[in-house]
Amino acid sequence: CGIVGYIGNQDAKEILLKGLEKLEYRGYDSAGIAVMNCECVQVFKEKGRIADLRGIVDMGVEANAGIGHTRWATHGAPSIRNAHPHQSDSGRFTLVHNGVIENYSELEREYLNDVELKSDTDTEVIVQLIELFAKNDLSTLEAFRKTLSLLKGSYALALLDEKDNETIYVAKNKSPLLVGLGDTFNVVASDAMAMLQVTDQFVELMDKEIVIVKKNEVIIQDLKGETISRAPYKAELDA
Ligand code: GLU
Repeated sequence: CGIVGYIGNQDAKEILLKGLEKLEYRGYDSAGIAVMNCECVQVFKEKGRIADLRGIVDMGVEANAGIGHTRWATHGAPSIRNAHPHQSDSGRFTLVHNGVIENYSELEREYLNDVELKSDTDTEVIVQLIELFAKNDLSTLEAFRKTLSLLKGSYALALLDEKDNETIYVAKNKSPLLVGLGDTFNVVASDAMAMLQVTDQFVELMDKEIVIVKKNEVIIQDLKGETISRAPYKAELDA
């Protein structure tokens, strides 16, 4: 339903939780965040309100990057187990997803026979495929690109790789997703409203693009890996 992401110098937890609160009006059944620092990625998920999620987030964890999600279940009951973010088998990759993957069961049958899935969602297949391809010696970017080329359906995605705490990978197809620009940080949001708290400069993404978001840099690539430049626009709060 809603996606947020932050990478920079500030406390990611608070910015992600505030962002999710701004998206509450859209409705959701569960929510979660994943925060990343140089040691690890930690995931917090809860059913019900963002206030309940806030209650279980370990505020002692220091993290300058992370992703968050409000879920409106399409595949798999509303539950903590099915709430996003979802993680790959080894825990290396962490993903949030808006939309519906139409061919998830075909992909599961074809590629993931040896993987024990931890949720009933269409989403988990994406993060498990990324790990599978990364295990076969692809870089994260290549594994992400290969996975996207197999997906049928709609998606807005934000991905963390525990081995690279300086990057959030994002992509979209038929679901909205924006990158917001800051001086010493950058953000991701399915709706500008979520991140107007920190910036009003947003870059619109086109279907099938991949974006590499770092705190000082945003690189947009097409499916072939060619870099695309696009100016930001100024987002304003609707009265
Ligand atoms: N299809 C995914 C799920 O059911 C994502 C739903 C959403 O967009 O919130 O978990």
